[in-house]
Amino acid sequence: MVAKNGSIYSQGSIKKYNCQFCDYSSLNSGHVRRHILTHTGERPFKCNICGRGFTQKNNLKKHMLVHFT
Ligand SMILES: [Zn+2]
Ligand SMILES: [Zn+2]
Repeated sequence: MVAKNGSIYSQGSIKKYNCQFCDYSSLNSGHVRRHILTHTGERPFKCNICGRGFTQKNNLKKHMLVHFT
């Protein structure tokens, strides 16, 4: 079976992406890449008010509330 997005899934051999630092794995390479940031300490999402960095956009969004309440 060939999916429209180019991924090929055949029974029993679904491609999985693994974290090189722990046993986390996901079918979505983007999820794994984002997860790996929690190991490397990289924080690409920066608050433009106080400069604090976050690993995930959602965390930054949540943090922004402290400035707007
Ligand atoms: Zn990991
Ligand atoms: Zn802030």
